[in-house]
This record gives sequence, structure tokens and C-alpha cells, in this order.
Amino acid sequence: MFIAGTYDVIVVGAGHAGCEAALAPARMGAKTLLTTLNMDNIALMPCNPAVGGPAKGHLVREIDALGGEMGINTDQTCIQMRMLNTGKGPAVHALRAQADKHLYQTVMKETLEHQENLDVKQLLIEKILIENGRVAGVQIETGEVYQCQCVILATGTYLRGKIIIGEVVYSGGPNGQRAAMNLTASLVDLGIRLMRFKTGTPARVDRRSLDFSKMIIQPGDETVHNFSFMSDIKTRVQEPCWLTYTNEETHNIIRANLHRAPMYTGLIEGTGPRYCPSIETKIVRFAEKQAHQLFIEPEGLHTNEMYVQGMSTSLPIDVQYEFLRTIAGMENVKIMRPGYAIEYDCVDPTQLRPTLEFKDIPGLFSAGQANGTSGYEEAAAQGLVAGINAALCIQGKEPLVLSRSDAYIGVLIDDLVTKGTNEPYRIMTSRAEYRLILRQDNADLRLTEKGRQIGLVQDERYARFSKKRDAIKEILTLLKETPITPVPEIQARLIKMGTTELRTGSNLYDLLRRTEVNYDSLCEHFHVPELPSGVKEQVEIAVKYQGYIQKQFEQVAKALRLEAKKLPDKLDYEMLSGLSQEAQQKLNEIKPLSVGQASRISGVSPADISILMVYLEQQRRRGELE
Ligand SMILES: Cc1cc2nc3c(=O)[nH]c(=O)nc-3n(C[C@H](O)[C@H](O)[C@H](O)COP(=O)(O)OP(=O)(O)OC[C@H]3O[C@@H](n4cnc5c(N)ncnc54)[C@H](O)[C@@H]3O)c2cc1C
Repeated sequence: MFIAGTYDVIVVGAGHAGCEAALAPARMGAKTLLTTLNMDNIALMPCNPAVGGPAKGHLVREIDALGGEMGINTDQTCIQMRMLNTGKGPAVHALRAQADKHLYQTVMKETLEHQENLDVKQLLIEKILIENGRVAGVQIETGEVYQCQCVILATGTYLRGKIIIGEVVYSGGPNGQRAAMNLTASLVDLGIRLMRFKTGTPARVDRRSLDFSKMIIQPGDETVHNFSFMSDIKTRVQEPCWLTYTNEETHNIIRANLHRAPMYTGLIEGTGPRYCPSIETKIVRFAEKQAHQLFIEPEGLHTNEMYVQGMSTSLPIDVQYEFLRTIAGMENVKIMRPGYAIEYDCVDPTQLRPTLEFKDIPGLFSAGQANGTSGYEEAAAQGLVAGINAALCIQGKEPLVLSRSDAYIGVLIDDLVTKGTNEPYRIMTSRAEYRLILRQDNADLRLTEKGRQIGLVQDERYARFSKKRDAIKEILTLLKETPITPVPEIQARLIKMGTTELRTGSNLYDLLRRTEVNYDSLCEHFHVPELPSGVKEQVEIAVKYQGYIQKQFEQVAKALRLEAKKLPDKLDYEMLSGLSQEAQQKLNEIKPLSVGQASRISGVSPADISILMVYLEQQRRRGELE
């Protein structure tokens, strides 16, 4: 056996999960190897050229706050940025960027190749090697072995990948790449349960064949935004997107060809994403709808490829041409790449701990689409957590577990490992119970300190963060400690500010709570310092939403009391009489860390939770538990 190298951590896959999963341990000092089937497809965006949006944008900010790379990479390579939902409360404000796909890959590849402690290689991993019950390395299709202490699976949509376009089916990965056909067997041999999922993508069409005069332009925001708390980009050339619609003629062509749609002929077995349905599924599921929105998005500055968002399909190519040419502005469309569906194997995530390590295979971690999620951001968030925990595992330190009140990343991972998923899981703001405190604007205040403690947040970021955090605290104190009294001079200022006079003494903090007052007007009329936009935003939200935020923290404190009630890892729940059979079976399967996690397992009732509480109290009294 030829040992080609020895590492601390080996990452299988250089997609959005793999890139973060490799950079984190390397930056924390672990000797890391990142592998991929094709070095030219590192950080490939096989689907829409967009990063962010509701909840996904929150994930990108959280990845950045912890010291991850996606936010920085997007800021440097995006060709349009918009802040969505600005008409609603700050909890759902979300940044969304159009990325130049090729530039995104190039910049990420450069970052990886220049990262200390990190090697990047084009290798096809065929087998996970186990010795004495724990990970020992990987075997390559060409026979060599790489030894290591931790392996992170980030295999995306490639495990036994199958491409489907109409009646045409072949093994393969996205964009004409090869599939990984043999690793699945190795995972099954290790006793890992796998699922078969599917996702799809629309055609890419030639910009020169489109008539934009028949579409509605969608420009980016004039205000320049950045995902990363480290980015200072002040100007950006923005490319527009375009809005058009399907129509009855489009729908009729699709309806007339449903008998040739792989979704309905049975050629597709895998389960697809509910929240990213193909056009043929939309036509069936929303039959009454007259028109579906389509966003025509540029794939990059140096390509004519345009992405038809909202038109994912695996219908035969002739049908794709026929229905695309019914759409306003696409009458003479030329397809550069057809829409297709891809089926692939992924892991049932209930086999993982909240650290993303397999419960039964120490040293083996899994992240990204391989865990049953869908989306670049979801993948990158898991990759970061798996990478961090592999490094902490090697350093013999406490793992990083983010709770549902810490981060959307915590919501995402807790949903996966506690509830599992039987379709590609996509993050949404509605999945988070503490939305008001998990905003995209305060991700650094929630997470950068944690990133610092685990050794991933570097000095420059920490200095910038500390300065901002301290400034916020200082100003809030200043506002609270600056009294204002109902004297004529103050009353006159208040009138000028467009607000009402004081009846009794107050302070600037309470003045800022008034809807019609903002920090800029306070600054204009009172001696308070001008503030950088990030600090000002936090001060305004903290003051204006104080009551709601306080209430949410009370809910969090209540939930954390249940999270603090730890459950023994080795407990056999069949021994606890009184629990329902379903609860015994589910609790033994999931092995929850706490009563809080147990309460989120479907099939575990409040009555079962009371029995667990009684059991813990008895154990505590017997001195068998803290
Ligand atoms: C056709 C298609 C349509 C999609 N549509 C959507 C959508 O509509 N909405 C959405 O949110 N997301 C969509 N996605 C998903 C999105 O692309 C993924 O969520 C994201 O890319 C997942 O990132 P990842 O890192 O987990 O995996 P990937 O980006 O798939 O990367 C996997 C990596 O693993 C490598 N690899 C795999 N097996 C091996 C092996 N044995 N040895 C070495 N390397 C290996 C590959 O080379 C690749 O580098 C779509 C994906 C595809 C392919």
C-alpha cells in the first residue's frame, strides 16, 4: 500500500462546504488536505449565480463573523447587490448578491492555494479507512492512501450522480463532470444510512438572443453593501437582471408534454426540493396561476450565458426550446446549456452530532449537500462548523455547538440532526424562533467572540469587531445618561426635529425610541457624536426594538434552561418505562444531548419530556448526575 501523505484533516470535496471545511482547520493550525474531482471546478456554482437572500444572507454574515470565507469572496466577485425586504423589520432584511461565477471560483481557488497548512489536490476518494473503530485515512481511485485523524465528507451532488434530461440518462456530476460512483459503497459498508435526493437547474441561454426591451430591468441598489464585516468596498459596477413571465401558451406546452417529463415518467426516483420546484412541478402544483415570474440573471461579466431563474426543468430539449420561445423577450432564444435534473446520494443527518461528526464513527464528519441540504450558503455554513470541529477534535478541545438562539447556523444544524429531512432542506427565516435577535446585521456581535475563542478570528477582524462593540456600548450609555428637560430651548429643538414636546424630564435614549426620531436627527440637534453606519444601525435597532428584543431574550433564557438539562449519551431509553414506544425508539436513534433537543424530536411528546425530567431529578438525587 502506497502512503502518499499524512494529514490531520482530509476534506472530500471542494464545493461551498469543502472550501470552508478546509480553510477553517488550516487557519487553526491543522495540516489539511482538500480534494476534488476537478481542480477547475473548485467552488463551482452549478445553479443560480446568486449568494444570499432571506435567511441565506444571514448564514453568509454568520460564516463571515466566525472567520469564514464566503462573505469576503462574494464581496470581491459580485456583479450586483440588493438589500431585500427593506420595507419590513430588520429581522428579515437580507442581502442578495449576483456573483460572477467564474471570478468567484478563481478568487476562492487562489485563497485556498495560498492558505498555509493547506494542500489542494485533484483526487477521487473511493474509500474511507477505519482503524480501531475510528477514521484513519482515505483510499484514492488510483490506489494510493492518505492517512489522517479526521475526514470531512463534502461530496455535494456527486455521489452516484445521475443526470436526467428528458429520456436521456447518464452518470455524471454537474456541468459535464464525472460522478463519484464508488464512495457510496464504502459509506454503506461503514453502516451509514443514505438517502437519494434530486435537484434541478434551468437552461443557460445566450444573452445575444434575448430582447431585453420586452423585459423589466432589475438594477442593483445604489447604496453599496457588503456581506463581510471586513470589506470596505465603496463602489461597485453593477450588472442588471431582467424580469419576464411565463404565460398560458408556455403552460400549455408543458402540460402537453408532462408524459415526457422524467418527474412523471418515473425516470427520477430521488426526492426534489419543495421550495425550488421545477417549472413542470409548478404548472401542476399551481395550475390556476396565469404567469410565473422569471428572473434572467447574468452568469458573469466575461460570458454571454444568462441564467433563467424560476425555470428549472428536466423536460426534453425540444420541449425546452418550445416553451422558452413563448416567453416575452425570448422568442429567438438560443440555449447554451440545457436544463437538467441530477440525482445523488446523501447522508441521513440524524446520524450526526450537532458538531457534524458521525455518532458511531469518531473522526468522520459530514457537511453540505451531502447532509441533505440545498444551497451554497447552507453548505458553506456546515462546512465551516465541520472544519472547526475537526480542528478542535485534533486539538483535544471542547467542540463548537451553536444553539438555535446563537445563529441561523444553529437552527440549520439542529433541524438536520434532531428532526432529519426527507427532502433537500433549505433554510428560511420561518424556521428560526428567535428571528429578532438572529438578524443579519448583528451576526458579528453574536458570533465573532466565539470565533476568537476557537482561534479562527484573526487579530485584524477582532480589533475591528471590538472597536464596534465598544462604540455601541458607549453610545447607548451616553444616550441613557444624557438627560433632557422640558425647557423652551429643548422644546424648540424637538419641534425642529418634527417630534412632539416633552411633558416631563427624559433622556436621549427615550427620545430615540420615538418612531419619527432617528440617530441622524439626534446628531443634528444634540451633542452626540457622528457614528460609522454599522454602529449607528445597531444603536437604532437596540433602542427602537428594545422591548421586543428583551422579550425574545426571556424566551431564550427559558429554552436554555431545558438545553442545560443534559442527557447521558449512553442512556437506553427502552429502560425508561412510561415513555411511549415511539419516543423510546426515536430517542435511542437520535441520542439527544439535552432535554431541550429531545423536545424537538418529532414523536416525543410533552408527556415524554416530563418523564425525562423526573428521571433526571431521580438521578440527581441519587448523586448519579450533576
Ligand atoms: C443541477 C443543480 C441544481 C441545483 N439547484 C439548486 C437550487 O435550485 N437551489 C439551491 O439552493 N441549490 C441548488 N443546487 C445546489 C447547490 O449547488 C449546492 O447546494 C451546493 O453546491 C452544495 O455545495 P457542496 O459543497 O455541499 O457540494 P458541491 O458544490 O456539489 O461540491 C461537491 C464537491 O465534492 C467533490 N467530490 C464529490 N465526490 C468526491 C470524491 N469521491 N472524491 C473527491 N471529490 C469529490 C466534487 O468534485 C465537488 O468539488 C443545485 C445543484 C445542482 C448540481
